[in-house]
Amino acid sequence: MTKSFRVTLLPGDGIGPEIMTVAVAVLKQVGEQHNIQFDFTEALLGGAAIDATGSPLPAETLSTCQASDAVLLASIGGYKWDDLPREKRPETGLLGLRSGLKLFANLRPATILPQLLSASSLKPEIVEGVDIMVVRELTGGIYFGTPKGIFETEDGQRGVSTMVYHSSEIDRIGKVAFETARKRKGQLCSVDKANVLDVSQLWRDRITALSTHYPDVELSHLYVDNAAMQLVRAPKQFDTIVTGNLFGDILSDAAAMLTGSIGMLPSASLGESGPGVFEPVHGSAPDIAGQDKANPLAQVLSAAMMLRYGLDQPKAADQIEQAVLTVLDQGYRTGDIMSEGMKAVGCREMGEALKQALRPK
Ligand code: NAD
Repeated sequence: MTKSFRVTLLPGDGIGPEIMTVAVAVLKQVGEQHNIQFDFTEALLGGAAIDATGSPLPAETLSTCQASDAVLLASIGGYKWDDLPREKRPETGLLGLRSGLKLFANLRPATILPQLLSASSLKPEIVEGVDIMVVRELTGGIYFGTPKGIFETEDGQRGVSTMVYHSSEIDRIGKVAFETARKRKGQLCSVDKANVLDVSQLWRDRITALSTHYPDVELSHLYVDNAAMQLVRAPKQFDTIVTGNLFGDILSDAAAMLTGSIGMLPSASLGESGPGVFEPVHGSAPDIAGQDKANPLAQVLSAAMMLRYGLDQPKAADQIEQAVLTVLDQGYRTGDIMSEGMKAVGCREMGEALKQALRPK
């Protein structure tokens, strides 16, 4: 039986349209082989939307996204729009999209591909085989807690930010993390600072209580300072990590950079119900836009994440991830991951190599 999904495409700015073209071609080809039909609708976001409508997130874009099963986003932004007032900037459109879709969970994988071992700044024997997923809470914690601000006092100015988590917020991110760990190796490490922060003690208590519903997932806890140390000392010990907004912001970047190549990193942002947004970690790379130099693999891996975590099509996701490994095995490299003896290709040729790798043998 053919499954059908409505997918909103947001190519955005800079290299966005180039890498999106490759991802869509890959999805269509995989769809044919797995009886999945994609109903794609393209919409405007970021600079492209500002130029066409004056707004970085037109109402029509948000409603199209809300009515879809998943959103595949490329990248937004560029020099052209840098001097606009904040509410008119491309990034404001992205924040509006995240809040409009009530996305509270950010999933950032850091997988070391054997073919790109040398791209990491750590020793190969430390990073070989690393496969980590960081699940970060996205809408709570110290970035949003109140009171916040800089206040005048008799003793001078006082800066305040407040780290707040409600038990319901911890439970919902905890559920996403346990479910994610279940789809992986079944190990979840919760990161907090419960030795110092009361809010972290509540975090630890709730995650521990939740674990009784997931007897198949092995739960451990680490303090954030130790977690940062362990990530660079022995990253292979981690499978899935769950943590709050601030700690996750820092740890997900550190974990991602174990891989050493920004053009390879996908991400997913999920809500309680409704569509998730799947996008590469990198920006719109205006320095190489329109030159057929972009690496489309982070975008293609974002499409694989969409199939796995947004549309529950793990076999199709596996096939895309396998095709990425195949083209790397064959020596194809865009400029950002090029090394001696490999075959330098542009965005389009990498796309062709992927399509070839996806053909049934
Ligand atoms: P960037 O990620 O766009 O680029 C950083 C460097 O990495 C550049 O040298 C770029 O050429 C290279 N690079 C990035 N992606 C690549 C790819 N797929 N293939 C090959 N090389 C790649 O970050 P930046 O330069 O700081 O930001 C550029 C614009 O992107 C800014 O307007 C910024 O606001 C925006 N941005 C958007 C997002 C997003 O859409 N989520 C994220 C970060 C930055």
